[in-house]
Amino acid sequence: MTELDRKQDRAPVPKEWTYAPAPESRDVVKLQDRYGLFIGGEWLETKESYETISPSSEEVLATVSQGSPEDVDTAVTAARAAYSNGWSSLPGSERAKYLFRIARILQERSREFAVLESLNGGKPIKESRDVDLPLAAAHFFYYAGWADKLEYAFPNRKPTPVGVAGQIIPWNFPLLMLAWKLAPALACGNTVVLKPAETTPLTALLFCDVLRQAELPPGVVNIVTGDGRTGAALVEHPGVDKIAFTGSTEVGKAIQRQLAGTGKKLTLELGGKAANIVFDDCALDQAVEGIVNGIYFNQGHVCCAGSRLFAQESIYEPLVEKLKKRLETLRVGDPLDKNTDVGAINSKMQLDRIKELVAAGEEEGAEIYQPPCVLPEKGYWFAPTVFTNVAQSYRIAQEEIFGPVLSVLTFRTPEEAVEKANNTPYGLSAGVWTEKGSRILWMAQQLRAGVVWANTFNRFDPTSPFGGYKESGFGREGGLHGLEPYLRFDE
Ligand code: NDP
Repeated sequence: MTELDRKQDRAPVPKEWTYAPAPESRDVVKLQDRYGLFIGGEWLETKESYETISPSSEEVLATVSQGSPEDVDTAVTAARAAYSNGWSSLPGSERAKYLFRIARILQERSREFAVLESLNGGKPIKESRDVDLPLAAAHFFYYAGWADKLEYAFPNRKPTPVGVAGQIIPWNFPLLMLAWKLAPALACGNTVVLKPAETTPLTALLFCDVLRQAELPPGVVNIVTGDGRTGAALVEHPGVDKIAFTGSTEVGKAIQRQLAGTGKKLTLELGGKAANIVFDDCALDQAVEGIVNGIYFNQGHVCCAGSRLFAQESIYEPLVEKLKKRLETLRVGDPLDKNTDVGAINSKMQLDRIKELVAAGEEEGAEIYQPPCVLPEKGYWFAPTVFTNVAQSYRIAQEEIFGPVLSVLTFRTPEEAVEKANNTPYGLSAGVWTEKGSRILWMAQQLRAGVVWANTFNRFDPTSPFGGYKESGFGREGGLHGLEPYLRFDE
């Protein structure tokens, strides 16, 4: 008998490990019944409005304004006035002070923002608390540092701001995407009109309070809520000099068509179908953690999610077995519970899309596995899912599901892994799990993906550029590269 066996014999270990509920308090968030549009530093009422809900309970949280084309025009006019009346000519060191202030206020109020993000979006509080909020603040800190160093970032190129930026963001990382977009734009001296996603407007609206607290001059940032029509009005507006869009490839393509020939600058961060490639010499348990983080983080609502797992044939069986075991330990439920690993699906529409693609996977012949878990009755939920026996032609191996659904495929050689991984219209991210450094470097050169993670997945840092190839879009956000789309160069 080993020492461990002897100890286990005596240890008072319960038969079953379950977690007591550990809900985060909602009291820290004070919601208004109704929100207007934040234009020129003031709240503006609109004719139309809609209700925003919590996807985990379907509870109505607040009434939010639906911005019309006229409202968008008012916002663009306010942004232009702020641009011309001082913001663009302010010394970089002064702009930096505002950005530092915003970053610090976000840190101070991070609990409030994290709770609201989980409430409105459905993501687990431990993710909004430990990932979204720290990264959002880090983006403002990082770009604050660049604001007075643009001449050094681009020597001999005379960088100047672009003008008014129209920014359209999705619902999967509402505050973080806002930070990714606003921080570099402001650091470079632009003013902004930003449209949050229809289902998740609340943290962007709370952020307006931060802007006031930081005493950012009115009109420098304007937040216009609404659905796709509001986004389209922003794209079409002749007073906008640059569009930055994150969202679906379909809408991204439509925007690119619309902007062709207008001279407006454009960056697109679109969908993905990332390959997470596991070689037989990797640390298997570590890889399992990376696979789980890659696809079940934020319910798989992640453009760079590792939604296609490529397992080397020699380790396919132990890998899938370990993965299924690990899935049994994931806790699905209340996003505000600190023990929750997988929260609610963001909307009914998204849940329907996931269900449709999962049904297609079963119909086409893939084998489905879902761990036993009880899903709450109210709200939108989907159990963590793994598909094995997947052919490359199946829809679940081709299309972006944007949910907690993993498709497992196999390969024998590195060349085959590369060929299969690149066999997608997307090119946003990829992961490689191997002990060999030389193989990592070779794979990273072969993979057509904007980001390649080695022995990790879903790692983000404001200093590191992020963006896609092919139908995943163009332009980079983050790092020094993230400044370029917000500058013109007088060369
Ligand atoms: P969309 O691309 O429609 O939404 C992204 C943003 O664009 C939202 O703010 C949306 O507003 C806005 N928008 C919609 N239509 C237009 C338009 N014609 N012109 C300008 N802006 C517009 O994504 P969905 O939310 O509809 O999600 C559909 C699918 O897209 C998902 O299932 C997923 O596969 C993928 N997706 C990918 C993301 C990524 O980061 N790669 C992020 C989100 C979704 P509104 O919210 O009001 O519709």
